[in-house]
Amino acid sequence: MGGKEIQGVMACLKSGWLTTGPLCKAFEEKFCELTGASYALSVSSGTAGMHLMLLGLDIKRGDEIITPSMTFASTLNMITLCGAKPIFVDIHYDTLNINADLIKEKITEKTKVIVPVHFAGAPVDMDKILGIAKKYDLFIIEDAAHGLGTYYKGVHVGGFGHCAIFSFHPLKNITTGEGGMITHHDDHLESRLRLL
Ligand SMILES: *Cc1c(COP(=O)(O)O)cnc(C)c1O
Repeated sequence: MGGKEIQGVMACLKSGWLTTGPLCKAFEEKFCELTGASYALSVSSGTAGMHLMLLGLDIKRGDEIITPSMTFASTLNMITLCGAKPIFVDIHYDTLNINADLIKEKITEKTKVIVPVHFAGAPVDMDKILGIAKKYDLFIIEDAAHGLGTYYKGVHVGGFGHCAIFSFHPLKNITTGEGGMITHHDDHLESRLRLL
């Protein structure tokens, strides 16, 4: 934390508006610019972002969510909190990312969402995953907790027409102490997520 960051926090404390104020709005606008997403919504953590997104998509008991077997526990916590079932797909040894070739065999009529993780800032093979999502009519929630600044074929993560979750925990690329961001492209989801 340099002098500029500390000054920024002081300015916020003195402004008389401590949460969901003009600084949050400016931060969200910067995120839209960076990712190319239509909407960005700041939240209290990446985990909170995942929770809201699953609620926004109306994920409930009986639904299945495909996610890599190596990820952060909170993704699984939020899936099970919603009553849904995480379905694991193995990772590639060389990228530590989900092996997109193994996804199709895990899809059932209960599958609703794929949650790939851009592990340690290395982008997943989005072309393959977007193709599968289109073919089987599935939604993608990119877990971009450590994906800020990550591009796949010139597109920033979160810019693929579905949605992404970012984290600002101190272990991640940038920090707000704790915090997170949802980015997405959907007018209907926007009003629902803001309400939630
Ligand atoms: C850190 C992390 C999260 C959760 O972020 P928090 O802001 O700590 O809730 C989710 N997924 C992955 C892959 C992470 O590394």
